[in-house]
Amino acid sequence: MGLLSGTIFDRPPHCERCEKPETECKCPPLEPVRRAPGKQMARVGVEKRKHGRMMTVVRDLSPADNDLADLLTKLKNACGAGGTLVDSNLEIQGAHADRVRSELQKLGYKVKP
Ligand SMILES: [Zn+2]
Repeated sequence: MGLLSGTIFDRPPHCERCEKPETECKCPPLEPVRRAPGKQMARVGVEKRKHGRMMTVVRDLSPADNDLADLLTKLKNACGAGGTLVDSNLEIQGAHADRVRSELQKLGYKVKP
């Protein structure tokens, strides 16, 4: 019994899009697949920094799934405050947890209660 007959081992790998052997394939690389905001859960917290300054921090959003710089701009605008991207955390100056939560939800994100 030829267990392998008729399986993919019978021919070299072919591209699924253009059907050409992979050595001849000229297809552009696939766009990285981003998770939809509705599939992501953000964590929003307010932290006290030095000199008693309050900072609203958004965690758990992956840079692979989101344009974090763009998101930061939206949140800064919504809060009318400054902010920075620290690693993959969004930090907005001031205590704006409610504003940030509702803005994230407006954009379709889930926010941890
Ligand atoms: Zn191809």
